Amino acid sequence: MNCIFCKIIKGEINAYKIYEDDIAIAFLDINPDSMGHTLIIPKKHFQDLDDIDVNTLNHIFKIAKKLKQKIENTLNCDGLTLIQNNGSIQEVKHFHLHLKPFYINKKDKSLEEVYQLLK
Ligand code: AMP
Repeated sequence: MNCIFCKIIKGEINAYKIYEDDIAIAFLDINPDSMGHTLIIPKKHFQDLDDIDVNTLNHIFKIAKKLKQKIENTLNCDGLTLIQNNGSIQEVKHFHLHLKPFYINKKDKSLEEVYQLLK
């Protein structure tokens, strides 16, 4: 299978990884919609919301709760949206939950700078 997120998990492709445990990892989106845009993915390949089991989903949302606090406290965003795409609007066919911070006044730091703050 030629899955880019599986390659990130295996370390074959670099990513700005900000969280890892036995079940999941989180890393910065390479093309962020806003500063701190993060993706949480399971290490096991599930395609989408239909495919993923509820225990893994629950684990991913536990990580989302932790990272939401960390992103808010570190980057001082004014809001944060969770998004999970399925079907034709899902670009990468490996389940992922987007955490997208929102800023009233647009703030921009490089991926490297954000990574140094959140890692
Ligand atoms: P989706 O439309 O929900 O499938 O979004 C896929 C997301 O993955 C997009 O926001 C991409 O910018 C992001 N993405 C694709 N390739 C990479 C990569 N190698 N590292 C980090 N993020 C990526």
